[in-house]
Amino acid sequence: MNNHTMEDLVSLCKRRGFIFQSNEIYGGLQGLYDYGPLGVELKNNLKQSWWKSMIYDRDDIEGIDSSILTNPLVLKYSGHEDTFSDPLLDCRNCNSRWRADHIADNKCPGCGSEDLTDPRPFNLMFKTNVGPVEDGNSFAYLRPETAQNIFTNFKNVLDSTPHPLPFGIAQMGKAFRNEITPRNFIFRVREFEQMELEFFVKPGEDEEWHKNWTDLRLDWWEDQGIARDKLELYHVPRDELAHYSKATVDIMYKYPHGLEELEGIANRTDFDLGSHTKGQKELKISAKVEENTQSNAKLAVQDLETKEWIVPYVIEPSAGVDRGFLAILNEAYRIEELEDNKNRTVLGLKPHLAPIKLAVIPLKKNDENIVKASRELKNKLQQAIAGRVLLENTGNIGKSYRKHDEIGTPACITVDFQSIEDNTFTVRDRDSMTQERVHLDEVREFLLQKYNI
Ligand code: ATP
Repeated sequence: MNNHTMEDLVSLCKRRGFIFQSNEIYGGLQGLYDYGPLGVELKNNLKQSWWKSMIYDRDDIEGIDSSILTNPLVLKYSGHEDTFSDPLLDCRNCNSRWRADHIADNKCPGCGSEDLTDPRPFNLMFKTNVGPVEDGNSFAYLRPETAQNIFTNFKNVLDSTPHPLPFGIAQMGKAFRNEITPRNFIFRVREFEQMELEFFVKPGEDEEWHKNWTDLRLDWWEDQGIARDKLELYHVPRDELAHYSKATVDIMYKYPHGLEELEGIANRTDFDLGSHTKGQKELKISAKVEENTQSNAKLAVQDLETKEWIVPYVIEPSAGVDRGFLAILNEAYRIEELEDNKNRTVLGLKPHLAPIKLAVIPLKKNDENIVKASRELKNKLQQAIAGRVLLENTGNIGKSYRKHDEIGTPACITVDFQSIEDNTFTVRDRDSMTQERVHLDEVREFLLQKYNI
C-alpha cells in the first residue's frame, strides 16, 4: 500500500525521532523544524552523497563552506535587495497575509473573503544587527542562498586551486528566507539547507552545460531512491524567471501535497560574477548589471591563448536538502500487509541513506554471553562501516525488527545461543524479511556485497 498522507510522514518523523517542531515546548516558531537522532543521520547521509557526487567523483569541482552572515553590499549588487521578494497581499476582513501567487480564485484562504489588497513586493531576506552598536548601519543579512559567497570567493578559490574552464565550486549549508506562508511540513520553511553548485563555463557553452547538468541531477535523484516517473521537468516561463536567470529548469517532485519544486537548475549567465566585478566597463558582460560595483575584485579568467579576459557564465543546480529529505521519505514509506493480517511499516531507504546501517540484536536481553558477543560484534562492525551500527538490546526480537523496518535499517543481525558455539549469526533483510546464517569471518564481505555498507 502506498497511499499515505503527509500526516503519516509527520507522525513517523515525530514518533521515531526524525524531525521535531522547533521550540515546541514554547509553542514553536512557524516555519522552523529540528532534526532528531535519526533525522540528522539521514540528512547528513543525503548531504554526503551529494558532496561525493560533486567533489570526490569528479576532479573539476571544489568545495567551500562560507559564512552565513553576509555583507549587505554583496546582496545589493547581486540584485537581492531590490528584487528578492514575493508578492504579498492582506485580507481586509481577517487581517491575514498571503503570498499572492498562492491564492486561488482571488479569495482569502483563511476566511474566504474577496476583500483583498493589491499585491506588493515583500523582501524575503532576514536582517540582523552586527556588533555592539545598533545604529541602523551596522547590519548584515542572513544569506538567502548559499550561492553568493561562492561568487565572492571565485578568485580566492581559483588563485589557490587553479582550474581551467569549465569548473565548479560547490557548497552546502543553511539559507534563510522570511517566507510569507511557511507550510507543508519541511517543504517550505524559513530556515533550510541548500546544496548548490556554481559551474563556470565559457560563454556559448552554457546551454549545452545546462542540459548536461539537468540530466546529471535527474540521475542523482534517482540514485537516492526517487522513482523517475515521480519527477518532472518544468521549464520556467520567461516572465517567471529570477532576475539573474536566462533560463531555469525546475526538477519537480510529486509530494503528498502536490507537484512542487525539488531543485532548480538555472543558467545565471555572467550576471553574478559581472555584478561583483571591478572594472566592468573593460569587460564584455552580457547581463544587465548594476554598474560601478564597490567590489575590489576582478572575477574573470584570462584566456591563455588570446589573453582576453572572460567573465564565465554559470550553470547552477540548486537543491533543497529538506525538500530532498521529504521526497526521499515519501518515496521510501510503505505499509505492507503480512500473512497474519497484520501490517508492517517499512522505510525502503537506499542503504547509503539509512540512518542506522545495521542493528545488532541479542536474542536474550539478560544472557551475559549473548550480550557480550553482541557488543563485540557491534564494535567490530562499527570499526569497518561508515555510518551508525546500533546495539539494540530490547529483548524482543519481533519488536526490534518492526522498529528497524520502520526506520529503514537495511539489515539486522541477531546473536543467539548458536552464535556463541560457532560464531555464526542470522542476518535478516529488511525488504524480503529473509534470514541467512553468516559466519563472523564472512559477515563484513557479506554486508559489503549485499548492501554496499
Ligand atoms: P519556491 O518557488 O518553491 O519558493 P524558489 O524557486 O524560490 O522556490 P530557489 O531560489 O530556486 O527556490 O532555491 C533553490 C532550492 O532551495 C529550491 O529548489 C528548494 O529545494 C530550496 N528552497 C527554496 N526555498 C525553500 C524554503 N522556503 N524551504 C525549503 N527549501 C527551500
